[in-house]
Order: sequence, then C-alpha cells, then structure tokens
Amino acid sequence: MKLLNGRKYLIQGVLIVVIVILISLIIIQQVTFQVPVFALHGIIDREQPKKWPSRANYLDYTIQDLETFLEKLIQDNYWFLSSQELYDYFIIKSQPIPSEKQNNKPILLTFDDGYKSLNVYLIPLLEKLEKKHNVSLKVVLFINPKFMEESESRGKVKYLNCDDLREGINQGFYDIQSHGLTHRTLKGLDNKVLTTELIESQKILQNCTADLPQNDTIAIHFAYPYNQLDEQVETETAKYYLSGYGYNSKLRNFLFMPNKMRIPRIGVSHDDSPETLFKLAKFVN
Ligand SMILES: [Zn+2]
Repeated sequence: MKLLNGRKYLIQGVLIVVIVILISLIIIQQVTFQVPVFALHGIIDREQPKKWPSRANYLDYTIQDLETFLEKLIQDNYWFLSSQELYDYFIIKSQPIPSEKQNNKPILLTFDDGYKSLNVYLIPLLEKLEKKHNVSLKVVLFINPKFMEESESRGKVKYLNCDDLREGINQGFYDIQSHGLTHRTLKGLDNKVLTTELIESQKILQNCTADLPQNDTIAIHFAYPYNQLDEQVETETAKYYLSGYGYNSKLRNFLFMPNKMRIPRIGVSHDDSPETLFKLAKFVN
C-alpha cells in the first residue's frame, strides 16, 4: 500500500512539474522578442571593393554574401517586415498577425547611414530575388538627412539623396526611418540641440516623401547614432518617434521583453559569413 501511494505521489509530482514547464514555456513565448533584427551599413562588390566604400570598410558587406544570406532566408520562408509591421505585430501587438503570414518567420533587415551603394547594388538584387522567388522583400533604411542634402547640393555621390529614397520606396523595397539629422552622438547633448537632431531629421525625410502614399510611415522610428543613449535621449526620442533601435545588442537581450525604445539589433560586419548570419536568425526564430 505504502509503495502504491509513493508511486501515486511520484506520478502527481511529475505531472505538476510538466504542467509548470509547459505554462512557463507559453508565458516565455508570449513575452519574449522573437524577431531577429539585423543592422548593416554599406554594400560593396567583392570584385571591386573600393568602388563604393562607406566611412568604415569593416562594415561594408559584400553583395555576393548578402545574396547568399537572402536566398537562405527566402527559402526558409522568412517574412521581411517593415519597421511599422514589427511595431504593430511584435512590439506593441496592437494587431493580430495576418493569417497569410502565420506560417512565416519574421525578420527585419536594416541599413544605417544611407549609403548610395544601396541603390547601386541592393535594389537590383532585391528586384532579381523578388522575380526569381515571387516574394515581397522589404528593408529599413535609417537615414541622416544632413548627408542626403549635402549629396544633393555638392554633387557628392556617397550618400542617397531624396530622389534615390523615393525610387526605393516606389519600388516597394525601402522603409525610410530616421538616424538623426547629422549622425552625432545624442548622449550628453544640450536639450535644444538634441531636439533639433530628432525633429529636423523627421521633417526633412517626411518632406521628401510628402506626396507619396507611404508618407504616414516615414521617419516615425529611430536608430540611435553610435548606439549611444541614456534616459534623457530615450525620453526625448519617445516624444517624436514610436520606437528606438540599438545596435550590436547582445543576443541575451532577445530573451527579455523588449523596451520599444531600445529594440535590440544584431550588427553585421564585413567578415560575418552568410551562414553565421543565418544561424543567428534561426537562433532567435
Ligand atoms: Zn550610423
């Protein structure tokens, strides 16, 4: 009898542990952030690496490696989100995920600093892959409008100008968001200067796209230059933008519910292989 009772308690104990584990897994699933967000910069051609260099060549990713990475993501049924979709479906969860996307894995690809090399290399690649796989591709560009204006007035071609952005938006590829007016570190700035960095960049980008139907989703999300922020920067940014993005966040950040003003991103550098990036994406989702 004693032995039977002991067995009964053991079975009950095991059942309770299993139920607790299951409930915990469901809760973790609900509160964790399971969208890989990658942060790239300029794009180069491996055959002509000096043709379109960015400010820091260790951040230039080759179009050949990017093609391999994108092919893997497309074949694995990833859904290329816009920043507003990430916000609505995965950050504040104000809307249910559309039924046709239920079986897709979400991912967000972002490109900082607005390099001209995106129109030169990335747009043709996205066009090619969309046709080949019959999918819809989207990338987020975090832009510093000061560079964009310089590009227009001084004939500099290193950075994308307003027409370049409009071209990418009209083709359905670009989601244009803000990276601050001049790319200066926001932390420690005088409040007036900080506000100018936040508001002016938004104004210029929205003016550039004012007549486009996508205008209401332009420059309402923000990526902090140099990943430098503190409480004041976060509070001020939240006055004008719906969300804020960090850079090169540790993967452990993915295990916690995100702060919408500190969305973690995985920084991509020149030497990261497409296989490594794909493994990171799979690790998160
Ligand atoms: Zn930057």
